[in-house]
Amino acid sequence: MSDYQFPYKDAAFVLEELLDFDQLCQAAGLGDVNTELAHAILEEAARMGSEVIAPLNTIGDRQAATLEDDGVHETPGFAEAYRQYAEDGWASLSAPQDWGGQGMPRALAAAVVEIWDSACVAFSLCPLLTSGGVEALAVHGTGELKQRYLPKLVSGEWTATMNLTEPAAGSDLAAVATRAVPEGDHYLISGQKIFITWGDHRMTDNIIHLVLARLPDAPAGVKGISMFLVPKFVPDENGEPGERNDVVCVGLEHKLGIHASPTCTMSFGDNGGAVGYLVGEPHRGLAAMFTMMNDARQGVGLQSLGVSERAYQQAAAYAKERLQGTRSDGSRFPIIEFPDVRRMLMTMKAATETMRALLYTAAAEVDWIHAAETAADKSRHIVRTGIYTPIVKGWISELAQEITSLGIQVHGGMGFVEETGAAQHYRDARIMSIYEGTTGIQAMDLVKRKTLADGGAGLGELLDEIQASVADLEAADGLGAMASRLQTAVEAARTARTWLLENAKSDPHAAGAGSYNFLMLMGYVCGGWLMGRAAVKAARLKASAAGDSAFAEAKLVTARFYFDHLLPRADACLSVLESGSASTMALDVEQF
Ligand SMILES: Cc1cc2nc3c(=O)[nH]c(=O)nc-3n(C[C@H](O)[C@H](O)[C@H](O)COP(=O)(O)OP(=O)(O)OC[C@H]3O[C@@H](n4cnc5c(N)ncnc54)[C@H](O)[C@@H]3O)c2cc1C
Repeated sequence: MSDYQFPYKDAAFVLEELLDFDQLCQAAGLGDVNTELAHAILEEAARMGSEVIAPLNTIGDRQAATLEDDGVHETPGFAEAYRQYAEDGWASLSAPQDWGGQGMPRALAAAVVEIWDSACVAFSLCPLLTSGGVEALAVHGTGELKQRYLPKLVSGEWTATMNLTEPAAGSDLAAVATRAVPEGDHYLISGQKIFITWGDHRMTDNIIHLVLARLPDAPAGVKGISMFLVPKFVPDENGEPGERNDVVCVGLEHKLGIHASPTCTMSFGDNGGAVGYLVGEPHRGLAAMFTMMNDARQGVGLQSLGVSERAYQQAAAYAKERLQGTRSDGSRFPIIEFPDVRRMLMTMKAATETMRALLYTAAAEVDWIHAAETAADKSRHIVRTGIYTPIVKGWISELAQEITSLGIQVHGGMGFVEETGAAQHYRDARIMSIYEGTTGIQAMDLVKRKTLADGGAGLGELLDEIQASVADLEAADGLGAMASRLQTAVEAARTARTWLLENAKSDPHAAGAGSYNFLMLMGYVCGGWLMGRAAVKAARLKASAAGDSAFAEAKLVTARFYFDHLLPRADACLSVLESGSASTMALDVEQF
């Protein structure tokens, strides 16, 4: 057992009140899935998370995975937990039914994944990559590859990895140098990949690497990259792990956090070439890999929520126990009674609840893509998902840095020593704004691909929708002040969008210098939208006799806190954006 408890009521509130889960399931043709079933699934996942996975978190921090002669040995206890995870069917929860998955909505899967992420993010990273691998293979793989690999990946019997990064190719994948040479019905892959998460382990019989490499005739740059499937063991004619392939882990990184997640240097083709199979079209591998990366980017947003929630729970529990104040009668009181400690705890609580609302909303948007009845509807949901993805990855992972840091601050000196575990959340969260594309890359994605490329049309639609919810706040009793604050925030977002459209062409540095603040601004505004809607729903629940009035009251206060303390940051982001690139770029390189 651990002290982690899934915030069940808040997750259910988002699913039912903000996303209308039952309607979503009906529209997606999942008539047998409903709120009642979702509750049962969440309860079971919460039990598994707190009883089986969460206790591994501290062990994994203290005892990292190791590289031995026969490969990577994971932290003790991880293999047993993983086996139970797969046997209990968690790996296949939202995977396609055609390949043995249960086809549950992504919105529900997001809530379940939050549990694994809060419990132990080093553990949950392994299934995260497998889920992305399933997605990429299901969309881009040939029929034969799907038949051979998908059922075992969907069931969790095998795991998948994502192999993009090389010593000279990080954010800029144009420099990928790994080679793929045709050889009969397959390719021979050679080269080195670095930083490969769960690149090797002994938890499953096989590991399936999805690898970016270049064909001999490949044009230079990102348009010459192809994607290959490289199994650790090449399956035999029965589909079972056969011959050992020419791919090995040759090193493990020593890291600031997520110690139990092996970060591997993978060497392909030291003995002539690793057998690989083309996934998708030649030279179109980056597009195929983006299917996996988009899935993983939403997944990293969920990690950021998971670790923030755990840091919040720990800080709140500590603040209730730690006695530091002395009353006039000489009795002592806990630090939670100090307004400044309240400020920190409320920031943590409001931010994590907002992250949850946005992440589940983004996941539901993917469900709506599948549920769409017309091509126009589908493309609208695809555009919206494209806008949400950098925001949930970039803004939420940045917010997680602040929340986990506050978790340490609430503990005072005890937060800085490792014993309490507050520091682990901070260290574990640090990678989340780096991997799967740094915040800088997410911000440029939001500005260039998701805003400038369509003249701001898709973003404009989102802002119109947010604008429409201002009226609901105005109409609700006592929420008028929130309505005008949200109105100001939407106007800030519209001004920022116009500023980018007007300045990006005339100033080559405008988009790059302002992109971070634009990303953060959009995050705070989306958060305001969802917390505003949550407040309207909570006000109704509070007024109705049937509702959980204590929960509704707390939600209303939390939403107000978000509007008072976090949403105003959007104005500051706009102000920085509008200051342009001049002072950012004025110094010569030598002046640094
Ligand atoms: C623990 C861990 C696990 C990882 N797991 C995997 C994995 O499973 N598979 C995999 O393939 N990779 C993985 N990575 C690699 C990770 O995705 C990269 O580290 C990340 O994408 C950044 O690349 P880089 O480290 O080369 O940094 P660089 O690209 O060198 O970036 C350095 C700095 O420059 C900025 N920058 C670079 N280019 C731009 C630009 N165009 N615009 C604005 N700013 C820019 C960045 O934002 C950053 O601040 C992992 C890394 C770590 C540390």
